[in-house]
Amino acid sequence: MDQDDNLLLKTVDGMKNEITVFLAELVKAKSVNPPGDTRDVIEVIRRKLTSAGLEVKLLSVDEDKPSIVAKLGPAQPKKKLELLYNSHVDTVPVGEIEKWKHDPFGAEVENGKMYGRGIADAKGSVAGMVMAAKALTDSNIELLGNLVINPVSDEEVGGFKGAQHVLDSGEINPDYVVVGEITANKIAIAEKGIIWFKITTEGRTAHASTPWDGINAIDKMINLLKMIDNKVVEQLKQRKHPLTPPPSMNIGMITGGVKTNVVADKCEVTIDRRILPNETIEGATKELQDVIDDMKKQDSDFKAKMEVILTGSPIETSHDSPIVKMAQEVCSSLGISDKPVGYLQASDGRFYAEKGIPTILLGPGLAELAHSPDEWIDPEEVVEATKIYSLLAVKVLT
Ligand SMILES: [Zn+2]
Repeated sequence: MDQDDNLLLKTVDGMKNEITVFLAELVKAKSVNPPGDTRDVIEVIRRKLTSAGLEVKLLSVDEDKPSIVAKLGPAQPKKKLELLYNSHVDTVPVGEIEKWKHDPFGAEVENGKMYGRGIADAKGSVAGMVMAAKALTDSNIELLGNLVINPVSDEEVGGFKGAQHVLDSGEINPDYVVVGEITANKIAIAEKGIIWFKITTEGRTAHASTPWDGINAIDKMINLLKMIDNKVVEQLKQRKHPLTPPPSMNIGMITGGVKTNVVADKCEVTIDRRILPNETIEGATKELQDVIDDMKKQDSDFKAKMEVILTGSPIETSHDSPIVKMAQEVCSSLGISDKPVGYLQASDGRFYAEKGIPTILLGPGLAELAHSPDEWIDPEEVVEATKIYSLLAVKVLT
């Protein structure tokens, strides 16, 4: 650790109370999504960043879902390097309120835990990133490149009006990205990708007393799903990645038919498929399409079409990437585990990974607590994250 690092750590230690108060303010500024109105929490962040001397820009598709882009560093950077700190300010809804012992928007503290909806996912990360920027300005540390603090809206419903919009706007051009997500301050370098399929089988109506006059689209769907189970699901069991959970497939919705005494002429399913970083969206799509094509060959009455309704790339950042190495150095200097892990959920990180930008996920809080009642975080872990974020910015940008 050099002089700058020691100064930063001292500054962050002196900020402990301010970090906890700021975190509580973020929780109290309700930002559940849907409906996803994040203006209150974005205003809390805007004030903090402005007070730290950063220039804050607001970007939005929808007026009630703004995202922040705040740059720290010289106007004429000596090093053409941009480090992006992204995290999300929207949260999932409270769910069944009876299951909460604590006020979801009260930021109540009990036995060293602070409670609230979204406090781990991902307001703890947001607090750490914003306070890291303040620690850097308070310590008068000069960066040679740019640090961009980028709290976004819309992550919980897909990120298209948040992270993706900011990336497409041209306001940022990151060389490295750190996504603040619930990794318990571990360095996550891999995440599964996602594809949603909609498959529709078509038949021909007839009276249920003479079903042989028609073609039952539900029967055809049942046959198809059995075939998918035999051919694809069985194969998924063989596939592995060292850092992520196994690949998966879930039939989420099924609809079909019009009446009990009518042969169904239409049946529709939607499927959620999670792919490993070593699988591809194209490959997984072809795999399913091949089953449909096989069915068509075997059964001349079988008619089906498949649509891809949503995709998100997996993330896999090389162990040798400079951002991984530097994050490892920072974590080990703080006595924290520097062993790269996989991220269990899906994140906005895929937007950067898709563009080939080296991306890691790192933030305070436990993934198991996300989206559940009495979500909590240990404010000390947020302080630790603030240290990681500020030391990492110095390592990358000086
Ligand atoms: Zn999250």
